[in-house]
Amino acid sequence: MSDELSYIGNEEEGFAIPCQIKIAEDCAQVGAFCESKEDACQWVEDECWISSGEGHFCLQCNDQVMRNIAKLATKKTK
Ligand SMILES: [Zn+2]
Repeated sequence: MSDELSYIGNEEEGFAIPCQIKIAEDCAQVGAFCESKEDACQWVEDECWISSGEGHFCLQCNDQVMRNIAKLATKKTK
């Protein structure tokens, strides 16, 4: 088991957590750049990004996932 999430950035620019799935047209793409990985992680938590266990994805993508699931559910009943 790994607690290591995927971050982008470096010591100079700071760290940010990218959206893991990027499927929404209005996807946030990446969280805010923060001084530390902890801060970057805190930022996505504050923004209520969804944790998938391996990474995080933004609320816009979460909405898109929900819409996709709803579509599939509708197809099945027809
Ligand atoms: Zn996204």
